[in-house]
Amino acid sequence: MSQIQLQNIVKKYGDGFPAVNDVSLDIADGEFMIFVGPSGCGKSTLLRMIVGLEDITSGEMLIDGRMVNDLAPRDRNLAMVFQNYALYPHLTVFENIAFPLRLEKGKHSEEEIRGKVQAASSMLELDEHLERKPGNLSGGQRQRVAMGRAIVRDADAFLFDEPLSNLDAKLRGQMRTEIARMQRRMGITTVYVTHDQTEAMTLGDRVAVLKKGILQQVASPRELYEQP
Ligand code: ADP
Ligand code: ADP
Repeated sequence: MSQIQLQNIVKKYGDGFPAVNDVSLDIADGEFMIFVGPSGCGKSTLLRMIVGLEDITSGEMLIDGRMVNDLAPRDRNLAMVFQNYALYPHLTVFENIAFPLRLEKGKHSEEEIRGKVQAASSMLELDEHLERKPGNLSGGQRQRVAMGRAIVRDADAFLFDEPLSNLDAKLRGQMRTEIARMQRRMGITTVYVTHDQTEAMTLGDRVAVLKKGILQQVASPRELYEQP
């Protein structure tokens, strides 16, 4: 669990207009926060700065009150799910999900790894597919494996970058429900980037609306819905 605070965050690529322009936002412990806005508004850049994949030009990023601007991604204990899944094609579903645990060398026994992978895969209804390779799975199943890999570790927060945009409409609806359910069950701080209005209005506790790198407003879906 984690509180994430963005204080006057700016990101400039080269000397152009800032991709993220003075964004301040407090994400509470256990909160489900959505970043929404059109392509190019700076959503992914913000998310990547939270994870540590992108340098911050100015401003401060705090996780549980600690400044993390210069902390490497692996030292932040956050779990990211990408749009393109980034699964290992030569590994089975089991080994894809187990991968983050194996990276923490010597920390988990084989039995522990088996237990954690089982727990994650049963929550995501992947039990029957553990010995298959990603190439033989449907888009929805692949997305579940990517989520399994994120939840298998005791991460402090989940970060999703447009995780459903490669799925068809039906699966998108189904996965939306699953993500919402999983987040409530685990009560883990979640930041979710999307350009999809339906996802923005149904998934989160609050929605942060971005436009050209500027934070326009932060409100609950209900408040946004009731706006004139
Ligand atoms: P979004 O996720 O909302 O589509 P991005 O964060 O990807 O927006 O991009 C915000 C802006 O920053 C865009 O103008 C984009 O072209 C630019 N940008 C993103 N990544 C880079 C990069 N690595 N180098 C230069 N410009 C970038
Ligand atoms: P998104 O799906 O968030 O809009 P894109 O598909 O636009 O992302 O960008 C994918 C990758 O390309 C990202 O790593 C991003 O940082 C990089 N990128 C985006 N815009 C630019 C740019 N103008 N110059 C260089 N790299 C960019």
